[in-house]
Order: sequence, then C-alpha cells, then structure tokens
Amino acid sequence: MKPYYALARHDGNQPLFNLVEMSIVSTLAGEPLHLHAEGLRGTGKTTIMRAARELMPKITRIAGCIYNCDPEKPHCPLHQHMSREEIMALGTEEIDMPFLEISHSAKVGTVAGSIDLAKITDVNNPKAALLPGIIPQAHRGILFIDEINRLADTSPEITDILLDVMGNKPGRLQIEEAGLPTVELTVQVSVWAASNPDEDPGPLEEVRRQLSDRFDMVVYMGRPSSVDVVVKMLEGSDRARREEVDPRIYEARNREFQQRALEMAEAYKSTELPDFLRSFIARIYIKHNLESIRAIEAVQQGAVLYSILKKHKQIMINDVIEMLPLALKHRVDGDTLLKIMNGLESRSSRDSILNIKDRRISKATKEREEVYFEGGARRLKDMGRQEIIATEKALNPNDF
Ligand SMILES: [Zn+2]
Repeated sequence: MKPYYALARHDGNQPLFNLVEMSIVSTLAGEPLHLHAEGLRGTGKTTIMRAARELMPKITRIAGCIYNCDPEKPHCPLHQHMSREEIMALGTEEIDMPFLEISHSAKVGTVAGSIDLAKITDVNNPKAALLPGIIPQAHRGILFIDEINRLADTSPEITDILLDVMGNKPGRLQIEEAGLPTVELTVQVSVWAASNPDEDPGPLEEVRRQLSDRFDMVVYMGRPSSVDVVVKMLEGSDRARREEVDPRIYEARNREFQQRALEMAEAYKSTELPDFLRSFIARIYIKHNLESIRAIEAVQQGAVLYSILKKHKQIMINDVIEMLPLALKHRVDGDTLLKIMNGLESRSSRDSILNIKDRRISKATKEREEVYFEGGARRLKDMGRQEIIATEKALNPNDF
C-alpha cells in the first residue's frame, strides 16, 4: 500500500484528505465526525481512507480493556463503576487508535457483540459473559465501511445499529443476547464510508435516507482536472523515473502529524465558533428552509476543525463556506445548494471585508500565499469581524 503522503493530490480528492485529517482530530477530542466518500471506481476513496491509518496517534486505555476504556472516564460494564484508585491499580497501556472495518458478510453478533463462547465453555469456571463486537472495540477510533449503499440495502439490522451509533455524539449501542441482560454502551466512533452511487443499489440517500443524513460530510470524489496533475501522476508511476522511496521520510511525516493531531484535538476542545458566524449559518438554515439540524451542526463542527487544520489564526467566513457543500450535498436538492452558494457570491459586494470572491483565486496562488503568510502576517480577510470593526461593545466592554 502506498504511504498516505505519497498519494497524489488534486482538486478532485483534496477535500477527502482534509476530511479524514479533521475526523481524526475530532475523534481524538471525543466528538465523532462521520464521513462518506462517493465516487466512481478508481477515484481512490478507499485508498485514502485506509492509508490515513498511518496518521493516527496512539491512545491510552485501561490495561487490557477490549472496550478501550479511557482511564479518565471508564464506560465499559467492567470498569465504569470502579474508583480512581482501583483503575490506577489496573494500570494503563498505549494502543493504536482503532481502525476497524465492517465487511458485508458481517453478522449482528460480530458487529455489536455476542456471548463469549470461550468463557461459557470454560470447564473450570464457566460463566456467561459478553464478547464485544467490532463497534464497541472501535471505541475512540474509526469504523470503516466500504460500499455502504449495498450494506444498507442488504443488512437492515446492521443499518439500524449504525443509526443508533451515529444518532448522537457520543452514540449508543445496545447489545441483546438471549441469556444475558441487555447491555447499553456509549460508543464514540467516527464512521467512514465509501460508495459508488452509480452502481447497484444506487445512491445511499435513495436507499436509506435516514442513514445518509447521519453522515456529517459527504464528499463526491472528482477526477484530476488539469493536464499537469495527470502528467505528474504518470511520472510517479513511470518505471524508469520511479525512485526508491525511503519509507523513513514518510514515517517522520506521519509522526509529525500524529503529534500535531493531539495538539489540534486540544485546540478543538476550547475553540468556539464566533457568534457572527453562528448567525450566518442560522440565516442560511432559515432562508432556505433546510430540514436537517444535523446539517448545520456539521457545518459548525467542520468550520472549527477546518480552520484549526489549516492553521488559521481565527475562524473565518471562508471556513464556513468551505464546509457548506460537504454538509449539504446529500441533504438538499441540487437547485437549493446552487441557490445557497450563489447567494453567498452576491453577498460579496456588501461584505467586502470578508471577501468571498477571493475563493475564486487559483489554488496555486492560494498555496503560495499560505506559505507567505505562515510567518505570522495575516491577510485582512483572515481577520475576524471583531478585530477589524471596533464596535461600541469592544470599546466599552463594561457597558454590556
Ligand atoms: Zn473497560
């Protein structure tokens, strides 16, 4: 498998790179971010998602707990009622952040949990115990599902479990097994799914609308649109030009991201969306009669994560705009989405300070600028409204 940082990036797949990184950060901060990549075969959606495992840092759990109990807030049936001292006595261990996959042949028992046959048939000490399935074992990590549209079509029971797990943040999982009391667990997993809407049984929003709405962000994978990018990709796979890739280069970059991911997760916990951006999102919701509250919650969560990932000093209106199509594409019809996005363009004359037109500048310029501004200088449009406009509230904070 190609290393994550060796995968070719272009306009069509860049959003997915951003989203997997944002989801890792969010999961580390304890708030799942569910992603769905749609696209034709060969657009590299599953490759990017699987390769992103390399970016995941280690997590600390109570030693030996297969439910991945966080020593700070144990949740599993075994540890949830233990005192701090009892947990300290058990010790902790570092494990890879979970990345588990649900296959199409999976049964409810494998996914949720089942009776632990080894324990019940133990001749010395037979007892009825629960063997947690894939979902509880993915707690604090990622659950990956390829061809989610097909799974939703053929496995209604597993789909119902996913609806529960993704219904709230954190989610909830009920494990029912004959002969055992029903166990209810909190599960904090980000679900990453992929599908090809052009193949049977069609787009997920048509197969099971409810499940489609559970995904915070949906990205439609595009093909590279510039000749230069395709030439670069060809060069990369040309045998005569292929250089021996030193895996250590990539290992160093992975470690760097892992470290940064932990810092970004801390930053995410304490970063709030500014009020004027919250009302900006609320206005879109009201004006366009959006149905899904989840959609605008996803925009809010996404904008904060995106601005942290891109090292913006402050969350900007462009961070929100960047998230709109990803959070709305699967929830509103094409015309409405177009109207929303066009509406934003026409606002640009009024909000010239928050210049939205800038979004049209070419990516190359944008990247050059980002490097240029990395030193600490900031563009006017990157500043928050409060910093630029001195309101009465800012001048006389005591009066408010
Ligand atoms: Zn535990």
